[in-house]
Amino acid sequence: MPFAALGLIEPIVQTLVSLDYTTPTAVQQQAIPAVLSGKDVMAAAQTGTGKTAGFALPILQRLFKRDKPVSSNAVRALVLVPTRELAEQVHESFRAYGAGLNLRTMVAYGGVSINPQMMNLRKGVDVLVATPGRLLDLHRQNAVKFNEVITLVLDEADRMLDLGFSKELDQVFAALPKKRQTLLFSATFSDQIRAMANRLLREPVRIEATPRNTTVARITQWLVPVDKKRKSELFLHLLKKHGWTQVLAFAKTRKGVDELVGLLDAKRIPADAIHGDKPQPARLRALERFKLGEVKVLVATDVAARGLDIEDLPVVVNVDLPIVAEDYVHRTGRTGRAGASGEAVSLVAADEVEYLAAIEALTKQTIKRVEESGFEPDHRVPETTAGGQIVKKPKKPKKPKGETKVVQEDVRFRR
Ligand code: AMP
Repeated sequence: MPFAALGLIEPIVQTLVSLDYTTPTAVQQQAIPAVLSGKDVMAAAQTGTGKTAGFALPILQRLFKRDKPVSSNAVRALVLVPTRELAEQVHESFRAYGAGLNLRTMVAYGGVSINPQMMNLRKGVDVLVATPGRLLDLHRQNAVKFNEVITLVLDEADRMLDLGFSKELDQVFAALPKKRQTLLFSATFSDQIRAMANRLLREPVRIEATPRNTTVARITQWLVPVDKKRKSELFLHLLKKHGWTQVLAFAKTRKGVDELVGLLDAKRIPADAIHGDKPQPARLRALERFKLGEVKVLVATDVAARGLDIEDLPVVVNVDLPIVAEDYVHRTGRTGRAGASGEAVSLVAADEVEYLAAIEALTKQTIKRVEESGFEPDHRVPETTAGGQIVKKPKKPKKPKGETKVVQEDVRFRR
């Protein structure tokens, strides 16, 4: 389906061609016609689904079609986001998609001087992308007026609540015109988000989209650096320490799966395996026992686990990182389903850093490192950046002789 079939006007379609967007994503197919027709939208969608264009394109079109120019200090579409990074990103999208429409867009967030933002608002803006705190500051100082707002977007609503913006949001809602279009985008739908949606949205069009390459925000992800040979021991230690009731563990090879199950058996921890060497009935039986709670730890390889319907799992442990980064998303996606919270823990050895970097680049995050006392690795896992780069540290120069003595003397001196 081409973009034009969704009701987008020629100048926007042309811009999309220049951006190389050929086919609308699932969210865009559903959101664009709904937003164009003025309806409220409640969308379960996160980064990676194309959600930004899903709301930005139809909003720009609606604003373009209105002939009345915006008044001083007024704003016509207000987009609220949790962080300054997202604010910049969303604003950049509006600029790119609105090229050639001659609409005024602006971004505002805290931590930078408010004066230029106040100056920019004087002429009024068609689209304002803002974080809640700074928006309220601007409103209190009469730099922004809400009486011309026709559309409100809450982007990553769950993260805004997680970051404690609930009070600020309520204050913004109270100041907005009652008659308006509201679009709510959230990766997860907790009770609090649902309550907010019930209060704000009128007969919303409901949209759900699963992202291709992202992990669910509600899943707590962390990794433990560890030497390869101590992974099984660390797994047992974490299992006991955290009191995990049920764990789906992933190992790279069939041999690795069998070894871990053997070790768990020896410790009398009910465990079973699913891997390619097992006949299908045996795999299904293992899964059934796991679902019934008879098996506490199910150890699997990626291939064998693909497509398995296991829901509501509290913990997924990557005993080995997957070689294919997308598999990390599949694995972690088995926990934290349907708005439940979950944990995804990875045991990472130094020689897996390339896999780690690829996963972090794909999921656009840096996974938190938690050192486990007594398991500090001899082989350091190199640092990685959010962009998936491995930080290579220069080799330390050899200590000159006698340095130890000097340090000791220093310490004594300080005492
Ligand atoms: P988002 O989920 O809004 O953060 O978008 C994710 C990425 O997909 C962004 O880099 C967009 O530029 C890109 N994108 C969005 N829609 C399309 C599309 N229909 N075709 C190609 N790329 C797209």
